[in-house]
Amino acid sequence: NRRIRVGIAGYGNLGKGVQQAINQNPDMELVAIFTRRDPEELAKETGTTVERLDNAGQYINRIDVMILCGGSATDLPDQTPQLVKLFNTVDSFDTHAKIPEFYEKVNAAAVEGGKVGIISTGWDPGLFSMNRLLMQAVLPQGKEYTFWGTGVSQGHSDAIRRVTGVKAGVQYTVPVQEVIERIRSGETPELPTREKHRRNCFVVAEEGADQEAIRSTITRMPDYFADYDTTVTFITEEELAREHSGMPHGGFVIRSGVTGNGSKQIAEFGLKLDSNPEFTASVLIAYARAASRLSVEGVAGAKTVFDIPLGYLSPKSPEELRRELL
Ligand code: NDP
Repeated sequence: NRRIRVGIAGYGNLGKGVQQAINQNPDMELVAIFTRRDPEELAKETGTTVERLDNAGQYINRIDVMILCGGSATDLPDQTPQLVKLFNTVDSFDTHAKIPEFYEKVNAAAVEGGKVGIISTGWDPGLFSMNRLLMQAVLPQGKEYTFWGTGVSQGHSDAIRRVTGVKAGVQYTVPVQEVIERIRSGETPELPTREKHRRNCFVVAEEGADQEAIRSTITRMPDYFADYDTTVTFITEEELAREHSGMPHGGFVIRSGVTGNGSKQIAEFGLKLDSNPEFTASVLIAYARAASRLSVEGVAGAKTVFDIPLGYLSPKSPEELRRELL
């Protein structure tokens, strides 16, 4: 049984996480990292083979699965359809509203290339999606809730940094704990946006900037903050570096259902992550294993987490799984 040969396309937070996670999975080996930046510099930084992304085609027979670690906004919509013509791929495309359109594009390219492209893995979309599906199927009569956090949202942090007078900043999405407790105790409230999550911002202002103006621009920003209870706390650059440089995240999927004559059935799946990218990378690795197996079976086309048998994620054999985990 030879190891699964993996390539990494794009070396940001996720790419770094995948490189680390490969070391925890003895059935995998890293062949090369592919980047749009200077490969030589990155080769020094990473201590491994780094190639230009444009030259990926030279690796067709040397890589079993390409793990795509580009950004969802502008990288993956082009990179996944291009690369899946050449390689089996796994990505973590997370723009929920655009997943159906993305699926169609990737599927056409994957069928053309005779490859498997597993899209939108990770935790949300990904593990949270699986739990939403599972508990909807089991408890058809019920209501479900997804809460995110406490965690750093890149999109909201970027939005803060674009405000005039802001030097640096970070935004935490915080689930409203009292509401979670109500749901856990069996209530099924209708929840407007404001009652599910709060937004806490930590901001470093530029010298002489008007803090009240910054606060009001942030809290009134449409789409990002206006619909939430938002706090803005001004801190120093040192404090930002000391207290807020991690990338924690997590959340809960809760389904509150009813069966029989009104028996309450509550199912909950939760994650508490010190490092969002390292965890997401670990999910990508498990799906890379599944992509490799499906491809060996002759499967081609785009797949989502809903289409992958759970056992395909594990390095263990079906016999071992039946004995140890059933
Ligand atoms: P990054 O911004 O860190 O990296 C994205 C790309 O930017 C990289 O592939 C890299 O491409 C390029 N890049 C990275 N660092 C630099 C740099 N210093 N200078 C220039 N370019 C750079 O994004 P993340 O890795 O944090 O996340 C990737 C995507 O994963 C996110 O867009 C998010 O949508 C998704 N995600 C999904 C989750 C889920 O649960 N489904 C959870 C977490 C993230 P290159 O090497 O080619 O330059």
